[in-house]
Amino acid sequence: MTELVRRALLGDRQAQEECTEKGIVLPCPCCGSDAEIVTELEFVLGEAGCFRTVKCKSCFLEAGLYRKDNDALNKWNTRPAPPIGRCGECKYYKPEQKSGACLPAECDSPHSTLFPVKPDTFCSYFKPREEK
Ligand SMILES: [Zn+2]
Repeated sequence: MTELVRRALLGDRQAQEECTEKGIVLPCPCCGSDAEIVTELEFVLGEAGCFRTVKCKSCFLEAGLYRKDNDALNKWNTRPAPPIGRCGECKYYKPEQKSGACLPAECDSPHSTLFPVKPDTFCSYFKPREEK
């Protein structure tokens, strides 16, 4: 995986646009499999026409119907950043715990029971603290 694709998958909007310009199809956001640009003949508003879409080769998730390749690819490649945060800012972070910082019973992360967690560790199981 290239650095550009990695950044695009992490939600970097600029990297996503660059992938679209270069014709790179990002992996499926649902299952991670390869996807491809396909042409579909569809009836839309009583009219038959050829549309372009991006479809996952494995789970058949689809980007929607577009007239142009780039519009379909742009829709497919654009995705939000996953909720990743620092353990020190997570609501499960308990600095008083000796073995690890997360509270394993509450934190969904499989890492919390295996490794001691530091406040500056990035975790994809991050849950923001609720405002009081
Ligand atoms: Zn898929």
